Amino acid sequence: IQKIRKRINSGDKFYSLEFFPPRTDSGGVNLIARFDRLAIGNPLFIDVTWHPKGNSGGDEVTASLTIASAALNFCGLDSMLHMTCINSTTEDIDKYLRKAKKQGLRNILALRGDVSDSIDESVRHTKELKYASDLVKHIRKEFGNYFGIAVAGYPDGHPECSSYEDDIRRLKEKLDNGGDFVVTQLFFDAETYFKFLRDCRNAGITAPIIPGILPIQGYNSLRHLVQLSKLPVPQRILDTIESIKDNDEAIRKFGIVEATNLCKKLLASDDVPGIHVYTLNREEAVVKLLKRVGLWHEESIYKSLPWRPSANGKRI
Ligand code: FAD
Repeated sequence: IQKIRKRINSGDKFYSLEFFPPRTDSGGVNLIARFDRLAIGNPLFIDVTWHPKGNSGGDEVTASLTIASAALNFCGLDSMLHMTCINSTTEDIDKYLRKAKKQGLRNILALRGDVSDSIDESVRHTKELKYASDLVKHIRKEFGNYFGIAVAGYPDGHPECSSYEDDIRRLKEKLDNGGDFVVTQLFFDAETYFKFLRDCRNAGITAPIIPGILPIQGYNSLRHLVQLSKLPVPQRILDTIESIKDNDEAIRKFGIVEATNLCKKLLASDDVPGIHVYTLNREEAVVKLLKRVGLWHEESIYKSLPWRPSANGKRI
């Protein structure tokens, strides 16, 4: 298994796809079938989000591991597991990492996680692992170079940071502690990313910084995401969405056009290694976007075969 960092540095523009663990078994089965179909387009990796223990039950921790492992072991996709430290002891973290290693996973997106009122006070901010930088340090200490480690970056600044400049210093800390590359929070204007990139480079950050892209797929999902991440959304987007809020199809079309324009501007730059797409577990808009920006590359193995896998596992 090739570590993702090596492939990022190969210079070819790529895309990666983020998913969350479905809440039901049938949702899990559907998602794995989707991985099979998306594998045809040759993503660099897929990644699976993580929900801190205490925030939403606990089963989803196992679900994240299972889904990431299924993508790797059943669908042959390089797979990155998100992991948060905010509500976990070092023992918990080591247990999860050992499990991930046992299942062949080699890439972790190391995060602090969101501070939430429902988090268990007894383990919140465990002394050792208060910030993502502590988690990165811990993974390197316990597992050496076994895992490739990604960290999160915030082109608009993290909502809790004392200042944008301080947030960039904290990002550098994560990379200095052993992070390999950065995946950014979503943003809506190319200039937001390019300014962030310049500021990171001026602060001495040399790691690849992969822009996170959200094709807007619905009125409610955008509102929910924005509320959660406290992101500033340009007025022109808010106005357009508001005017078509009852027309899902129109919103999806608008989302694809916006994301396509944004990605084209980003990919025109040599400093942008590829794009990371927040899929919201959907497929259609994502594939349309990737085709429009020229990143959907059907693997030659599929092209040469008289059949390809379909959603229900049959050959088509
Ligand atoms: P950190 O890097 O630890 O930073 C958190 C805040 O603390 C920042 O404001 C930073 O400036 C500040 N800070 C850092 N170090 C210090 C220090 N030493 N002293 C003082 N202040 C400091 N959440 C999930 O629950 N599950 C997921 O799967 C998930 N995936 C994500 C993927 C991406 C690409 C992104 C961008 C976010 C994701 N999140 C996820 C959300 C993330 O957990 C939250 O944004 C969280 O609030 C911060 O996580 P972090 O790892 O960036 O934190």
